[in-house]
Amino acid sequence: MPKQHIIGLSKEELSAVLASWGEKPFRTKQIWQWLYFRGVQSFDDMTNLSKDLRTRLADNFVLTRPKIITQQISQDKTRKWLLEFDDGERVEMVYIPELDRGAVCLSTQVGCAMGCKFCHTGSQKLKRNLTAGEIVSQFMVARDTYGEWPSPTDATRYLSNIVVMGMGEPLQNEDNVIKALNILSDGDGIAISRRRITMSTCGIAPKICDVLEKTGVRLAISLHAPNNEIRNALMPINKAYPIEQILAEAQKYQQKDGSRYVTFEYLMLQNINDSPQHAKELIALLKKHKIRATFNLIPFNPWPGCDFMPSTPERVKVFADLLNQAGFAAPVRVARGQDILAACGQLKSSTQKTPRT
Ligand code: SAH
Ligand code: SF4
Repeated sequence: MPKQHIIGLSKEELSAVLASWGEKPFRTKQIWQWLYFRGVQSFDDMTNLSKDLRTRLADNFVLTRPKIITQQISQDKTRKWLLEFDDGERVEMVYIPELDRGAVCLSTQVGCAMGCKFCHTGSQKLKRNLTAGEIVSQFMVARDTYGEWPSPTDATRYLSNIVVMGMGEPLQNEDNVIKALNILSDGDGIAISRRRITMSTCGIAPKICDVLEKTGVRLAISLHAPNNEIRNALMPINKAYPIEQILAEAQKYQQKDGSRYVTFEYLMLQNINDSPQHAKELIALLKKHKIRATFNLIPFNPWPGCDFMPSTPERVKVFADLLNQAGFAAPVRVARGQDILAACGQLKSSTQKTPRT
């Protein structure tokens, strides 16, 4: 039996292991801080533990990171890592810097089964779910790279936000995603506050509220269409969970916590969903469901083999103005990391392995 990864155990699981070894409860917090506050990569570095306990940990667990296969830095400083896990499967992770902070975009699956027509990840079948440890350790690699151990405070860190918008559909892997988000936001460790974490979903309606309640993170929904006819053509999952059902969940979520806005991601696709008429339909839809929302108008990132075209800037402006006039914030996202294919929906794990030497 290969040893288990210690990264990805919940605090309760870690504490249960330690209790079964006869260790005092305070050891959990000590080890947790070594792992997630200081970011050490060896049990030997946990210097306030006895030699015996360190040996026992090393006999039972591994403490390793995913392997960095490549790292690319874009002209705009966006960075993309290709990471490989123990079984050779790979995912991409992206860091998008702003002036004094930035968001790390995490993947939750290798590939994706949702098959959205515009998405490069979706053109690759689902290989497997990532474990909680694999999701958390992506972020840890980013912290290693930027030297942000021991964990700085909210005010001073560059890696300040997390968006679950990389490869995969988080609500198809909800148990591991819940566990990972709770580790990432735990105040004794990595401590990214829940308000700075946003999970994006294509809209697996029955799971939305459950995951938000169990994690407290923010919700983004990939809407991309003002009606079911267009959405069905773009996102096959819409046939199972049509727009009304998704919006009803968004409404439920807001009823529990009135201060929360839902972000709707809306991909601007030339002549598909980007006319003034579409904007008006969208406004009517959200008003009907009484949802407090902001929009993210995302420029479509083309990839080889995909026939969609990005909307012209003129069309995007008219669309955004209509939303604004109706009282919805609708910033147009600037595509980041274009030159290294690091933008939304362009992530695709390379199946080609580097030759062993
Ligand atoms: N599965 C989740 C999260 C990952 S996709 C979801 O679908 O929400 C993250 C975002 O990238 C989604 O809004 C998705 O619709 C968008 N996206 C996918 N392909 C894209 C492309 N080619 N150009 C721009 N955005 C894209
Ligand atoms: Fe999967 Fe999201 Fe891509 Fe759709 S947009 S295929 S749900 S990763």
